[in-house]
Amino acid sequence: MRKIARQTKIIATIGPATESEDQIIQLIQEGVDVIRLNMAHAAHDWIRIITDRIRNIGKQLDREPAIMMDVKGPEIRTGYLHQELNIKKNDTLDLVFTAQPNPPMEDGVWQIEVNYDKLPDHIKEGDTVLLDNGLIQLKVLHSSKEKIRCSVKSDAVLKSRRHVNLPGIETGLPSLTEKDRRDSLVGIECKHDYFALSFTRDADAVDLFRSFLRDNGSDAQIIAKLEDQKGVANIEEIIQSADALMVARGDLGIECPFEELPIIQRKAVGASLSAGKPVIVATHMLESMIDSPVPTRAEISDVANAVNEGADCIMLSGETTTGKYPFECVRMLTRIASRMEEEIQPGLTEELKLFRPKAKMLRSAAMLSMRMENSAVLVFTRSGDLASKLGALRPNGSPLFAFTDVEGLHRRLRLIWGIEPFLMEFSVDPEITIQNAINYLKTKKWIEEGDQLVIVTNAFAHNRVIESIQLREIEK
Ligand code: PEP
Repeated sequence: MRKIARQTKIIATIGPATESEDQIIQLIQEGVDVIRLNMAHAAHDWIRIITDRIRNIGKQLDREPAIMMDVKGPEIRTGYLHQELNIKKNDTLDLVFTAQPNPPMEDGVWQIEVNYDKLPDHIKEGDTVLLDNGLIQLKVLHSSKEKIRCSVKSDAVLKSRRHVNLPGIETGLPSLTEKDRRDSLVGIECKHDYFALSFTRDADAVDLFRSFLRDNGSDAQIIAKLEDQKGVANIEEIIQSADALMVARGDLGIECPFEELPIIQRKAVGASLSAGKPVIVATHMLESMIDSPVPTRAEISDVANAVNEGADCIMLSGETTTGKYPFECVRMLTRIASRMEEEIQPGLTEELKLFRPKAKMLRSAAMLSMRMENSAVLVFTRSGDLASKLGALRPNGSPLFAFTDVEGLHRRLRLIWGIEPFLMEFSVDPEITIQNAINYLKTKKWIEEGDQLVIVTNAFAHNRVIESIQLREIEK
C-alpha cells in the first residue's frame, strides 16, 4: 500500500508568485489539492486564462485540483489618496462620502472618503471604526448624514483604498454585491468547483447565493466564510445551509476580540465535524514565510493545532500569491500535517450522524480498515455524499479511495479530508466496476499484492441489488 503523504488537504491561493505553467505544475506536484482564486484582486480575463491552465495541467499530471473562486462579498474601503498620510494620536478625522481634495484636510480635520454613504445610519457615538486591517483605530465622536467625526487612537500611516472594519456593527450591506454577481458569472462560465462567500452572516446569505448559482446553471458548492460576529452567532445555521465552512481568520481577528479567535476556530471545526461538513482553517498559517524560508515556531504549532483539531484543509494566501517561498510553504504544511497526523489517536467521529443504511455501513468499513495492516477503504459515489461522510469520520491512517463517474465530482472531492478521488466509468455490473477500480489502483501503484481493500458497494444477490461491505485481498 502506498503511504499517503497526509490526510489533511492543502489549499493554495494563486497569484504572481505561482501563476505560470511551471509554477502551477510545481504546486500540484507538491500536493496542493485545491486552488483558490481571490476576486479581491483578480481580473476576469486572468481568471479565464488561469482556469484553463490549471485544468490542462491537472489533466496532464492526472491529478486535477479543485478550483475555488473566493468572491469578495460586502466590503467598505477608504478612497484613493495621492500620497500616504501621517495621522497622529488624538487627531480629528471625518469619514465622508465624496472624493476629497489633495491633501484631504479642512480646518485641521482629516477628510477621508469611504465608499458606503449609508454608514451614518448604522454608527453611533462611542463605536469603534478600524482602518487598514485593524492597524488604525478610530473612536466615533458623532455621526450625521454628511460625515462621521472620529478621534484617532494612535499614530499611523494611512494609505490609499484601505479596508474598513466595524466590529459588532450591523452595516446593512447586501450579502451579494453587484461585483460578486459579475465575478461569479465568470466562475460559473469556467465551471469552478467551489465558490467561497465572504462575510457569510446567516443561512439566508447562503440560500440567496445558491439560488443565484442555480439560476445561472451552476451546481457548484458553497463555502461559507466565517469572518464576523454575526456569522459566529449564526454558525449552526450557516453550517447546515452551506456545503463547507472557512474559518477566515484574517477578518475574524479584526471583527472579534482576538483572544476569542482560537475558541471560535475550535468551536467552528468541532461543529463542522459533527455535521459532517468540510472545514478550512485559513490565513496567516505561514505568514512569515512570505519573506523567510523557514516558519516561526508559533506558526508550526498553529498548523499542527489546526490538523489536531480535525480541519479538512489548511489554506495558504499571501504565502503563495506574492511570497518568496510558495513551494517551500506547501512542503512545510505537508511536513507538519503528516507528522501531526501520526500522533492523532485513531478514532471515528462519534457525533457524526449517518442516516442512509449505506452511510451507516461506512463506520464499520472505516473501523475494519483502521484495524488491519496495509488496508484501505474503497467507495463508489455519484453524489459525493458517501465519500464526504467517509472523510468526515476521520479514519486516521487509512487511505480512502473514492471512485466516481461524475465529471467534476472527482475534483470537488479533493477538498475532503483523506479522500483520494478518481474519475472512472461505472459498469451496470458492480463486480466489473470493482475490478476496474482495483486494476486502476494497482496500475497506478496505490495498492499491491497482499493489501486489503474494504469495499462499500452494491452487489447482486439472486438478481436483487444489496448493499454490502466486502473485504478483498489484492491478488497478483
Ligand atoms: C480572511 O479574512 O481570512 C480571508 C480568507 O478572506 P480574504 O483573504 O478574502 O480577506
